[in-house]
Amino acid sequence: MEVLDPRWCEPAPPSALEDAVRGRAIERFGRRGKYLILSLEDDVHLAMHLRMTGNLLLAHAPDPDPPYLRVRFVLGPDGAKEMLFTDVRRFGTGTVLLGSDALAEFFASRLGVEPLSPDFTAEALRALARGRRAPVKAFLLTQERIAGVGNIYADEALWRARIHPLRPVGSLKRAQIEALREGVVEALAEGIDAKGASIDDFRHADGARGSFQDRFLVHMREGEPCTRCGTTITKLRAAGRGTYICPNCQRRPRLRRSA
Ligand SMILES: [Zn+2]
Repeated sequence: MEVLDPRWCEPAPPSALEDAVRGRAIERFGRRGKYLILSLEDDVHLAMHLRMTGNLLLAHAPDPDPPYLRVRFVLGPDGAKEMLFTDVRRFGTGTVLLGSDALAEFFASRLGVEPLSPDFTAEALRALARGRRAPVKAFLLTQERIAGVGNIYADEALWRARIHPLRPVGSLKRAQIEALREGVVEALAEGIDAKGASIDDFRHADGARGSFQDRFLVHMREGEPCTRCGTTITKLRAAGRGTYICPNCQRRPRLRRSA
């Protein structure tokens, strides 16, 4: 492992990561929320986050280095293959965690329930939402509550569930909670099936683009008709993010000025 950009692993020095990773076999490649986890022998783990523009690419030794290369992993005894972390904007990160306890502790404070796990039930979602006045979109984006839902997926899930993004999450009825749970799971499943969205930078290990952007039901479809009712999709801001809705399917909550 060679960390070419020290910002990637701040505050740890590149040598700390390189020493921990170098020479250790990869036992498992996992994911938790938006983190990718390289688990190595001797219970050493490397948690990586692509953030806005990071990519993890596989390359073969004679290939020229791609632009914006930040970290290089040389794989196998012959060094014929490389795994490359590229990142235009440099928000991507890498953290070494020594031992399963350290790994669990790292995620305990950062990530909530996995939406694709059996733990993500309507009951669990209802318990998380109970009493909260946060707008449902902001709630969905909070990684400490539900792990891994980003801006695109929140929009798609809310449209599927026919819920306005500014609705206080604690005010959702039982049937809406169940619809939201299904919406989140279906939006994520659709995104995975399409191999992700490549609006700007995201690429697969082989450099291929995802095609989820061609299947969006509401996200980035401002001015186009809703596929369910024909109403024109509009854009607003929620949780500080560009947010797309069908104003007919997703009715705005009534404002209570007294509060
Ligand atoms: Zn509609």
